[in-house]
Amino acid sequence: MTEDVHLPASWPGGVTRRSFMKFCTALAAGMALPATVAPRIAQAITDPQRPPVIWLHGAECTGCSMSLLRAEHPTVEKLIFDLISLDFHETLEAGAGHQAEASLARTIESNYGKFILIIEGAVPLQDSGIYCRVGGKNFVDSVKETAAAAGAVIAVGSCASWGGVAAMSPNPTGCVGVQEVLPGRQVVNVPGCPPNPYNLLSTIIHYLTFGKLPALDAKNRPKFAYGRLIHEHCERRPHFDNGRFAREFGDEGHRLGYCLYYLGCKGPVTYANCSTAQFGDAGSGCWPVGTGHPCFGCTEQGVGFNMPQFSTSPVLHATPNAGHAPITVERGEGVTPGAAALMAGVGGAAIGAGVVFAAKLGNKEERHEDEKA
Ligand code: SF4
Repeated sequence: MTEDVHLPASWPGGVTRRSFMKFCTALAAGMALPATVAPRIAQAITDPQRPPVIWLHGAECTGCSMSLLRAEHPTVEKLIFDLISLDFHETLEAGAGHQAEASLARTIESNYGKFILIIEGAVPLQDSGIYCRVGGKNFVDSVKETAAAAGAVIAVGSCASWGGVAAMSPNPTGCVGVQEVLPGRQVVNVPGCPPNPYNLLSTIIHYLTFGKLPALDAKNRPKFAYGRLIHEHCERRPHFDNGRFAREFGDEGHRLGYCLYYLGCKGPVTYANCSTAQFGDAGSGCWPVGTGHPCFGCTEQGVGFNMPQFSTSPVLHATPNAGHAPITVERGEGVTPGAAALMAGVGGAAIGAGVVFAAKLGNKEERHEDEKA
Protein backbone atom coordinates (compact mmCIF):
# COMPACT_ATOMS: atom_id res chain seq x y z
CA MET A 1 0.00 0.00 0.00
CA THR A 2 2.87 2.34 0.71
CA GLU A 3 4.86 1.95 -2.51
CA ASP A 4 3.46 5.06 -4.19
CA VAL A 5 3.68 7.20 -1.09
CA HIS A 6 6.95 8.74 -0.03
CA LEU A 7 6.86 8.87 3.72
CA PRO A 8 9.53 9.18 6.36
CA ALA A 9 10.40 5.88 8.09
CA SER A 10 9.13 7.22 11.39
CA TRP A 11 7.84 10.29 13.13
CA PRO A 12 8.95 11.78 16.43
CA GLY A 13 7.23 9.99 19.26
CA GLY A 14 7.70 6.54 17.76
CA VAL A 15 5.01 6.46 15.05
CA THR A 16 6.22 4.07 12.40
CA ARG A 17 5.34 4.22 8.71
CA ARG A 18 3.26 1.09 9.18
CA SER A 19 1.35 2.67 12.04
CA PHE A 20 0.85 5.79 10.00
CA MET A 21 -0.65 3.89 7.08
CA LYS A 22 -2.94 2.02 9.47
CA PHE A 23 -3.94 5.37 10.89
CA CYS A 24 -4.78 6.65 7.38
CA THR A 25 -6.79 3.49 6.68
CA ALA A 26 -8.70 4.01 9.91
CA LEU A 27 -9.39 7.61 8.95
CA ALA A 28 -10.73 6.43 5.60
CA ALA A 29 -13.01 3.96 7.38
CA GLY A 30 -14.15 6.72 9.72
CA MET A 31 -15.20 8.76 6.71
CA ALA A 32 -16.99 5.74 5.20
CA LEU A 33 -14.41 5.62 2.38
CA PRO A 34 -12.71 2.50 1.02
CA ALA A 35 -9.29 1.53 2.34
CA THR A 36 -7.87 2.14 -1.14
CA VAL A 37 -7.94 5.91 -0.54
CA ALA A 38 -5.52 5.58 2.42
CA PRO A 39 -2.40 6.27 0.28
CA ARG A 40 -4.09 9.38 -1.10
CA ILE A 41 -4.83 10.56 2.43
CA ALA A 42 -1.23 9.86 3.43
CA GLN A 43 0.05 11.84 0.46
CA ALA A 44 -2.25 14.80 1.16
CA ILE A 45 -1.41 15.16 4.81
CA THR A 46 2.35 14.81 4.33
CA ASP A 47 2.47 17.24 1.41
CA PRO A 48 4.68 20.14 2.53
CA GLN A 49 2.49 22.46 0.46
CA ARG A 50 -0.74 21.46 2.22
CA PRO A 51 -2.93 24.38 3.32
CA PRO A 52 -2.44 25.37 6.95
CA VAL A 53 -5.06 25.66 9.66
CA ILE A 54 -5.86 28.85 11.52
CA TRP A 55 -7.78 28.35 14.77
CA LEU A 56 -9.64 31.26 16.41
CA HIS A 57 -11.35 31.32 19.80
CA GLY A 58 -14.56 33.13 20.71
CA ALA A 59 -16.97 32.72 23.61
CA GLU A 60 -16.12 29.23 24.89
CA CYS A 61 -14.24 27.21 27.50
CA THR A 62 -11.46 25.82 25.25
CA GLY A 63 -12.80 22.33 25.89
CA CYS A 64 -12.78 21.55 22.16
CA SER A 65 -9.04 22.27 22.00
CA MET A 66 -8.53 20.27 25.18
CA SER A 67 -10.24 17.26 23.64
CA LEU A 68 -7.50 17.34 20.98
CA LEU A 69 -4.77 17.84 23.53
CA ARG A 70 -5.52 14.85 25.73
CA ALA A 71 -2.29 13.99 27.45
CA GLU A 72 -2.82 10.21 27.59
CA HIS A 73 -1.76 9.65 24.02
CA PRO A 74 0.74 12.28 23.00
CA THR A 75 1.51 10.44 19.79
CA VAL A 76 -1.95 11.03 18.41
CA GLU A 77 -1.88 14.65 19.49
CA LYS A 78 1.51 14.97 17.82
CA LEU A 79 0.14 13.52 14.61
CA ILE A 80 -2.86 15.79 14.68
CA PHE A 81 -0.90 18.96 15.18
CA ASP A 82 1.89 18.05 12.79
CA LEU A 83 -0.27 16.72 10.02
CA ILE A 84 -2.89 19.41 9.88
CA SER A 85 -0.19 22.09 9.84
CA LEU A 86 -1.71 24.16 12.59
CA ASP A 87 -0.01 27.48 11.86
CA PHE A 88 -1.99 29.61 14.25
CA HIS A 89 -3.92 28.69 17.41
CA GLU A 90 -4.67 31.53 19.80
CA THR A 91 -4.29 29.54 23.02
CA LEU A 92 -1.34 27.37 21.93
CA GLU A 93 0.60 30.09 20.17
CA ALA A 94 4.08 30.60 21.62
CA GLY A 95 4.01 34.28 20.71
CA ALA A 96 1.75 36.79 22.42
CA GLY A 97 0.39 40.27 21.86
CA HIS A 98 1.62 42.01 18.70
CA GLN A 99 3.82 39.05 17.78
CA ALA A 100 0.83 36.72 17.70
CA GLU A 101 -1.26 39.18 15.69
CA ALA A 102 1.58 39.64 13.21
CA SER A 103 1.91 35.86 12.89
CA LEU A 104 -1.81 35.57 12.13
CA ALA A 105 -1.65 38.33 9.51
CA ARG A 106 1.36 36.68 7.84
CA THR A 107 -0.33 33.27 7.73
CA ILE A 108 -3.47 34.76 6.18
CA GLU A 109 -1.55 36.77 3.63
CA SER A 110 0.69 33.94 2.48
CA ASN A 111 -2.18 31.42 2.28
CA TYR A 112 -4.94 33.69 1.02
CA GLY A 113 -7.93 31.68 -0.21
CA LYS A 114 -6.36 28.36 0.78
CA PHE A 115 -6.17 27.96 4.55
CA ILE A 116 -8.73 26.16 6.69
CA LEU A 117 -10.32 28.38 9.32
CA ILE A 118 -11.47 26.61 12.48
CA ILE A 119 -13.56 28.61 14.88
CA GLU A 120 -14.09 27.43 18.44
CA GLY A 121 -16.72 29.28 20.45
CA ALA A 122 -19.82 31.34 19.87
CA VAL A 123 -19.90 34.86 18.47
CA PRO A 124 -21.33 37.55 20.78
CA LEU A 125 -23.35 40.18 18.91
CA GLN A 126 -24.86 42.23 21.73
CA ASP A 127 -23.62 45.85 21.81
CA SER A 128 -21.78 45.43 18.53
CA GLY A 129 -19.96 42.38 19.85
CA ILE A 130 -17.82 44.05 22.52
CA TYR A 131 -18.13 41.08 24.90
CA CYS A 132 -15.40 39.16 23.12
CA ARG A 133 -12.41 41.17 21.95
CA VAL A 134 -9.07 39.74 20.85
CA GLY A 135 -6.15 41.91 19.78
CA GLY A 136 -8.27 45.05 20.12
CA LYS A 137 -10.85 43.74 17.69
CA ASN A 138 -14.36 42.46 18.30
CA PHE A 139 -14.46 38.73 17.64
CA VAL A 140 -17.35 39.07 15.20
CA ASP A 141 -15.17 41.31 13.01
CA SER A 142 -12.22 38.92 13.21
CA VAL A 143 -14.46 36.04 12.13
CA LYS A 144 -15.81 37.95 9.13
CA GLU A 145 -12.39 39.20 8.02
CA THR A 146 -10.60 35.87 8.43
CA ALA A 147 -13.41 33.85 6.85
CA ALA A 148 -13.34 36.12 3.79
CA ALA A 149 -9.76 34.99 3.16
CA ALA A 150 -10.24 31.29 4.03
CA GLY A 151 -10.60 28.30 1.71
CA ALA A 152 -12.91 26.50 4.13
CA VAL A 153 -14.59 27.36 7.43
CA ILE A 154 -15.25 24.81 10.17
CA ALA A 155 -17.18 25.58 13.37
CA VAL A 156 -15.88 23.18 16.01
CA GLY A 157 -18.04 22.44 19.04
CA SER A 158 -21.63 23.25 19.84
CA CYS A 159 -20.88 26.89 20.80
CA ALA A 160 -19.44 27.65 17.37
CA SER A 161 -22.08 25.53 15.62
CA TRP A 162 -25.15 27.19 17.13
CA GLY A 163 -24.33 29.09 20.28
CA GLY A 164 -24.15 26.19 22.76
CA VAL A 165 -23.62 27.02 26.44
CA ALA A 166 -22.72 30.64 25.65
CA ALA A 167 -26.12 31.21 24.01
CA MET A 168 -28.24 29.64 26.75
CA SER A 169 -31.11 31.70 28.08
CA PRO A 170 -30.99 34.57 28.92
CA ASN A 171 -27.96 34.90 26.62
CA PRO A 172 -26.92 38.37 27.82
CA THR A 173 -24.09 38.71 25.30
CA GLY A 174 -26.27 37.79 22.32
CA CYS A 175 -24.15 34.78 21.34
CA VAL A 176 -24.86 33.02 18.05
CA GLY A 177 -23.20 30.31 15.98
CA VAL A 178 -20.64 31.13 13.31
CA GLN A 179 -22.99 30.48 10.41
CA GLU A 180 -25.24 33.33 11.53
CA VAL A 181 -22.52 35.92 11.02
CA LEU A 182 -21.37 34.45 7.71
CA PRO A 183 -24.53 34.40 5.58
CA GLY A 184 -23.94 32.86 2.17
CA ARG A 185 -20.75 31.13 3.29
CA GLN A 186 -20.62 27.35 3.70
CA VAL A 187 -19.71 26.63 7.31
CA VAL A 188 -19.20 23.00 8.36
CA ASN A 189 -20.52 22.32 11.84
CA VAL A 190 -18.72 19.73 13.98
CA PRO A 191 -20.86 20.00 17.12
CA GLY A 192 -20.45 18.31 20.48
CA CYS A 193 -19.45 19.48 23.92
CA PRO A 194 -16.69 18.76 23.19
CA PRO A 195 -16.84 17.04 19.80
CA ASN A 196 -14.94 13.85 19.12
CA PRO A 197 -11.52 15.09 17.92
CA TYR A 198 -11.40 12.42 15.24
CA ASN A 199 -14.52 13.84 13.62
CA LEU A 200 -12.77 17.19 13.32
CA LEU A 201 -9.55 15.59 12.13
CA SER A 202 -11.41 13.57 9.49
CA THR A 203 -13.24 16.67 8.24
CA ILE A 204 -9.95 18.54 7.82
CA ILE A 205 -8.27 15.59 6.17
CA HIS A 206 -11.18 15.11 3.78
CA TYR A 207 -10.68 18.69 2.62
CA LEU A 208 -6.91 18.28 2.31
CA THR A 209 -7.24 15.01 0.40
CA PHE A 210 -10.09 15.75 -1.98
CA GLY A 211 -10.07 19.56 -2.10
CA LYS A 212 -13.68 19.68 -1.02
CA LEU A 213 -15.74 19.34 2.11
CA PRO A 214 -17.41 16.05 3.05
CA ALA A 215 -21.12 15.47 2.41
CA LEU A 216 -23.18 17.38 4.96
CA ASP A 217 -26.59 16.88 6.54
CA ALA A 218 -29.33 19.51 6.83
CA LYS A 219 -27.53 21.09 9.81
CA ASN A 220 -24.23 21.23 7.91
CA ARG A 221 -22.69 18.39 9.91
CA PRO A 222 -20.50 15.79 8.14
CA LYS A 223 -22.75 12.85 7.38
CA PHE A 224 -19.99 10.34 8.07
CA ALA A 225 -20.06 11.36 11.73
CA TYR A 226 -23.61 12.63 12.27
CA GLY A 227 -25.61 10.47 9.87
CA ARG A 228 -27.02 8.06 12.46
CA LEU A 229 -28.79 8.25 15.78
CA ILE A 230 -26.73 7.37 18.84
CA HIS A 231 -29.57 5.04 19.79
CA GLU A 232 -29.08 2.90 16.67
CA HIS A 233 -25.78 1.41 17.83
CA CYS A 234 -25.90 1.96 21.57
CA GLU A 235 -24.44 -0.86 23.65
CA ARG A 236 -27.52 -0.63 25.93
CA ARG A 237 -29.86 -1.04 22.99
CA PRO A 238 -30.69 -4.70 23.70
CA HIS A 239 -31.98 -3.58 27.11
CA PHE A 240 -34.13 -0.91 25.46
CA ASP A 241 -35.53 -3.46 23.03
CA ASN A 242 -36.33 -5.86 25.83
CA GLY A 243 -37.81 -3.29 28.20
CA ARG A 244 -35.02 -3.27 30.77
CA PHE A 245 -34.55 0.24 32.10
CA ALA A 246 -32.82 2.13 34.90
CA ARG A 247 -35.50 4.21 36.63
CA GLU A 248 -33.29 6.12 39.07
CA PHE A 249 -29.59 6.81 39.30
CA GLY A 250 -28.06 4.06 41.45
CA ASP A 251 -31.01 1.66 41.32
CA GLU A 252 -30.55 -1.97 40.39
CA GLY A 253 -31.25 -1.34 36.70
CA HIS A 254 -28.62 1.39 36.67
CA ARG A 255 -26.09 -0.86 38.37
CA LEU A 256 -26.82 -3.62 35.89
CA GLY A 257 -26.17 -1.35 32.91
CA TYR A 258 -29.75 -1.17 31.65
CA CYS A 259 -31.06 1.42 29.21
CA LEU A 260 -31.03 5.03 30.44
CA TYR A 261 -34.11 6.12 28.51
CA TYR A 262 -36.17 6.93 31.61
CA LEU A 263 -33.27 8.91 33.07
CA GLY A 264 -33.64 11.32 30.17
CA CYS A 265 -31.32 9.80 27.59
CA LYS A 266 -31.45 11.80 24.36
CA GLY A 267 -29.79 9.06 22.29
CA PRO A 268 -33.02 8.38 20.37
CA VAL A 269 -33.14 11.96 19.05
CA THR A 270 -29.42 12.74 18.76
CA TYR A 271 -27.37 12.26 15.62
CA ALA A 272 -23.71 11.45 16.31
CA ASN A 273 -21.28 8.54 16.18
CA CYS A 274 -20.61 8.47 19.96
CA SER A 275 -21.99 4.95 20.38
CA THR A 276 -19.65 3.57 17.69
CA ALA A 277 -16.62 5.88 17.82
CA GLN A 278 -17.02 6.34 21.58
CA PHE A 279 -15.13 9.21 23.06
CA GLY A 280 -11.69 9.85 24.34
CA ASP A 281 -8.84 7.39 24.34
CA ALA A 282 -9.43 5.79 27.70
CA GLY A 283 -10.80 2.56 26.30
CA SER A 284 -13.96 0.71 25.44
CA GLY A 285 -17.11 2.07 27.08
CA CYS A 286 -15.60 5.52 27.51
CA TRP A 287 -18.50 7.69 26.47
CA PRO A 288 -21.34 9.16 28.53
CA VAL A 289 -23.84 6.31 28.15
CA GLY A 290 -21.04 3.77 28.58
CA THR A 291 -20.19 5.27 31.96
CA GLY A 292 -23.82 5.33 33.13
CA HIS A 293 -24.80 8.87 32.27
CA PRO A 294 -27.64 9.56 29.84
CA CYS A 295 -26.80 11.29 26.59
CA PHE A 296 -27.97 14.91 26.82
CA GLY A 297 -27.92 15.59 23.11
CA CYS A 298 -24.90 17.87 22.98
CA THR A 299 -24.54 17.50 19.20
CA GLU A 300 -28.10 18.62 18.52
CA GLN A 301 -29.35 22.14 18.20
CA GLY A 302 -32.16 22.60 20.69
CA VAL A 303 -31.94 19.22 22.42
CA GLY A 304 -29.47 19.81 25.23
CA PHE A 305 -28.30 23.36 25.73
CA ASN A 306 -31.45 25.13 24.69
CA MET A 307 -33.53 23.41 27.32
CA PRO A 308 -34.25 26.13 29.89
CA GLN A 309 -33.88 23.53 32.64
CA PHE A 310 -30.33 22.76 31.65
CA SER A 311 -29.06 26.05 32.97
CA THR A 312 -30.71 25.67 36.37
CA SER A 313 -30.48 22.01 37.24
CA PRO A 314 -27.83 19.34 36.90
CA VAL A 315 -30.56 16.72 36.71
CA LEU A 316 -31.63 15.82 33.24
CA HIS A 317 -35.28 15.83 32.44
CA ALA A 318 -37.12 12.87 31.05
CA THR A 319 -36.98 12.42 27.33
CA PRO A 320 -40.19 13.67 25.72
CA ASN A 321 -42.60 10.81 25.07
CA ALA A 322 -40.76 8.69 27.60
CA GLY A 323 -43.53 6.13 27.72
CA HIS A 324 -43.63 3.42 25.12
CA ALA A 325 -45.12 5.72 22.53
CA PRO A 326 -42.94 6.06 19.43
CA ILE A 327 -40.25 8.72 19.61
CA THR A 328 -40.52 10.81 16.50
CA VAL A 329 -37.14 11.64 15.03
CA GLU A 330 -36.20 14.04 12.27
CA ARG A 331 -36.35 11.48 9.52
CA GLY A 332 -39.97 10.89 10.45
CA GLU A 333 -39.17 7.41 11.70
CA GLY A 334 -40.79 6.06 14.80
CA VAL A 335 -38.37 4.36 17.16
CA THR A 336 -40.13 1.98 19.46
CA PRO A 337 -38.73 -0.50 21.92
CA GLY A 338 -38.40 -3.82 20.16
CA ALA A 339 -38.64 -2.49 16.62
CA ALA A 340 -35.64 -0.35 15.96
CA ALA A 341 -32.89 -2.95 16.35
CA LEU A 342 -33.29 -3.55 12.63
CA MET A 343 -31.92 -0.07 12.03
CA ALA A 344 -28.52 -1.12 13.31
CA GLY A 345 -26.24 -1.72 10.31
CA VAL A 346 -22.80 -3.02 9.57
CA GLY A 347 -21.71 0.33 8.11
CA GLY A 348 -21.99 2.22 11.37
CA ALA A 349 -20.13 -0.47 13.26
CA ALA A 350 -17.31 -0.41 10.72
CA ILE A 351 -17.03 3.35 10.96
CA GLY A 352 -16.89 3.11 14.71
CA ALA A 353 -14.23 0.45 14.59
CA GLY A 354 -12.12 2.63 12.33
CA VAL A 355 -12.31 5.63 14.61
CA VAL A 356 -11.71 3.56 17.71
CA PHE A 357 -8.63 2.13 16.04
CA ALA A 358 -7.41 5.64 15.26
CA ALA A 359 -7.96 6.57 18.87
CA LYS A 360 -5.76 3.72 19.95
CA LEU A 361 -2.88 4.59 17.68
CA GLY A 362 -1.03 6.45 20.36
CA ASN A 363 -1.21 3.54 22.72
CA LYS A 364 2.29 2.51 23.64
CA GLU A 365 1.50 -1.19 23.51
CA GLU A 366 0.32 -0.86 19.95
CA ARG A 367 3.48 1.00 19.03
CA HIS A 368 5.45 -1.79 20.64
CA GLU A 369 3.63 -4.32 18.46
CA ASP A 370 4.51 -2.29 15.38
CA GLU A 371 8.12 -2.13 16.29
CA LYS A 372 8.25 -5.90 16.70
CA ALA A 373 6.59 -6.46 13.30
FE1 SF4 B 1 -28.74 3.77 24.64
FE2 SF4 B 1 -30.07 5.93 25.44
FE3 SF4 B 1 -31.04 4.46 23.43
FE4 SF4 B 1 -31.09 3.51 25.94
S1 SF4 B 1 -32.21 5.32 25.13
S2 SF4 B 1 -30.45 2.39 24.11
S3 SF4 B 1 -29.16 4.33 26.79
S4 SF4 B 1 -29.11 5.63 23.42
